[in-house]
Amino acid sequence: MSKRVLLVEDEAPIREMLEFVLVQYGFQTIQAEDFDVALEKLVEPYPDIILLDWMLPGGSGIQLAKKLKQHQHARNIPIIMLTARGEEEDKIRGLEVGADDYITKPFSPKELIARIKAVLRRAAPTASEEPIHFNGLNLDPVSHRVTANDEPLDMGPTEFKLLHFFMAHAERVYSREQLLDNVWGTNVYVEDRTVDVHIRRLRKAMEKFGHDAMIQTVRGAGYRFSSKI
Ligand code: CA
Repeated sequence: MSKRVLLVEDEAPIREMLEFVLVQYGFQTIQAEDFDVALEKLVEPYPDIILLDWMLPGGSGIQLAKKLKQHQHARNIPIIMLTARGEEEDKIRGLEVGADDYITKPFSPKELIARIKAVLRRAAPTASEEPIHFNGLNLDPVSHRVTANDEPLDMGPTEFKLLHFFMAHAERVYSREQLLDNVWGTNVYVEDRTVDVHIRRLRKAMEKFGHDAMIQTVRGAGYRFSSKI
């Protein structure tokens, strides 16, 4: 079944261009020209991914991303922010409020499709894998659930994938570059500090019972998942 993409973009020519490209690559599209329409379009069947313009009338993309992350059904839908060149700080803020990736305008259709596929791949549950447990922390790849002392932990698809990778390779140190290759995939360009943003979000999601201490920073080397707290 083809994946549904919710396009939130106020500029009609850009929206139409995006739609043209997405349909060409076999995606279905749902269009929204502003904040309120985007929220109205969040009904079943839910989109698989959201392309969210940074500058929107009636609320910035950031506000919408925040709102989406509190939305009962939409909070697990991955978001790619569309930003203009030179909004470096904004991109980081976008990632901090829950976007999974960003793409800078103008972009090529090929780049857009590669980003969407990479984010969808990260969001996809990894079936036929065994649950992993350490110290009260339990990750079930099949149901895509993480619990700490039997209480569910809420996290985004990228944090889940990152934690899954860490738990499957406990006690080993990985550089940011290695994490990007293993968790984000080699054919997508993501900046090193994107890793730091997701590590921060992952730790925050694991704070409740102190499991965040299992994600250790190894100075000058990268990060390690420790099976002990
Ligand atoms: Ca705009």
